[in-house]
Amino acid sequence: MAHANPTSRLTGSRLTPSGLTLEPGMPICQTDLPLDWYQDEFKPYAEEYQALPDRTPETVLPWLDRYVRPAQDHFGDSLLLLAHFYMGGEIVKLVERYGGAVSDSYALALQAARNPEKKVIVESAVHFMAEAVAILAHDDQQVWITNPKAGCTMEMLAKDHLVMPIADQLIERYGDDLMVIAYMNTSGRLKALAGATGGAVCTSSNAHLVVDWARKQNKKILFVPDQHLGRNTAWKLGMELDKLVTLPDPQVHASNYSLTDGTIEGGIQALDRAEMILWGSYCGVHTIFSAAMVGWWQERGWKVLVHPESPLEAVQAADGAGSTDYLWKAAMNAKPGSKIVIGTEGHFVRNAAAEAGKRGVEIKHLADIPDPSFGSAGCGCATMSRNDPPHLAGMLDLLRLGQAPDINLVQSGDSVDEITARRDRLSGEEQGELIRDAKLSLERMIAITEAGA
Ligand code: SF4
Repeated sequence: MAHANPTSRLTGSRLTPSGLTLEPGMPICQTDLPLDWYQDEFKPYAEEYQALPDRTPETVLPWLDRYVRPAQDHFGDSLLLLAHFYMGGEIVKLVERYGGAVSDSYALALQAARNPEKKVIVESAVHFMAEAVAILAHDDQQVWITNPKAGCTMEMLAKDHLVMPIADQLIERYGDDLMVIAYMNTSGRLKALAGATGGAVCTSSNAHLVVDWARKQNKKILFVPDQHLGRNTAWKLGMELDKLVTLPDPQVHASNYSLTDGTIEGGIQALDRAEMILWGSYCGVHTIFSAAMVGWWQERGWKVLVHPESPLEAVQAADGAGSTDYLWKAAMNAKPGSKIVIGTEGHFVRNAAAEAGKRGVEIKHLADIPDPSFGSAGCGCATMSRNDPPHLAGMLDLLRLGQAPDINLVQSGDSVDEITARRDRLSGEEQGELIRDAKLSLERMIAITEAGA
């Protein structure tokens, strides 16, 4: 059976070491969270951290060592630390310092399955990434997130309670002709929806392969959650853009509309004609990029690369577009003297600039234009950065003491309210069904990607 043992084939991706190092004197630049943002169990660690005289490795590392080293001694080889490339502050460097792995969400998702000896997996990233690890984990592996309030805003605008009422209407109208393709930035519940409709998960590096696979089956696609990645993929594949329908902004309409009440632009006729229907979510970090920003840099001799969560106009104007892995490799492999502007998450660009700068490659952030009329990108993905050093120290120490809060344990199908950190957890039977369907959608992605590689 194709889905009998999907994890047995999860060998296609590898972790890309960041190669980042903590230089002496380099500040541990992490904006302090207000103390009342911490769970009660984590407040003592936050108070200690915030009382450190400065945030250089000379003070932070001995403090972290007091908690991380005993946990490593306690759990030995069964402990695995993970972090995403977009993590703020210096947390990616800290995680690597303690032997952890740093990568994009696809490679992270495979880590439990590929490392069965790791029983306690601690992730510093947003919830959907930790849940993807949990879906593919073996039964005796546990996945913990250092801060359950770390959510991806794109995913938060595509919770199952928002998407399902609309997906149900689409399935009722189009039946088996409708296929859901779920970007990796979705909950397990939406990945399972993709699996149940014959669809697949995709990432920013393989979305074109997955959408092309669906088109060859003459399916009408519901692409969730990122409208920009969906639109950019359609453009990349040469799809007629007037055969795309973008569903209303979930921040404005939630799911309080029907397919026929006029809320959807073009109405039911547009939906009937559509080749791909885009959920209306987006990433606040990437939507700010524009063709004008790209042009500003190009006029000054810079090569511009952007992530495909950016608006279509920016992607069309740029010199290249691709996943975080593509952007990282482009920066690391550029010839000395190259001048590259990257349009993606700010912490990632700063880390890339620091590393590539050692080889004489200049890297700038697309929004770092000294003209206020272009606006500002802020520091990066603020929600991901909620996984700060006190959360890492506290999580590991509480696990060692056997006092880790259940709310930090990530299980497949958990629906999380990132404001309260409350979890809606499925029953064992429901979880089993969800894992089956979600794995199916992940396995299809892997098969499609391997076939297209
Ligand atoms: S950068 Fe955007 S898409 Fe990525 S985790 Fe943050 S909010 Fe989500």
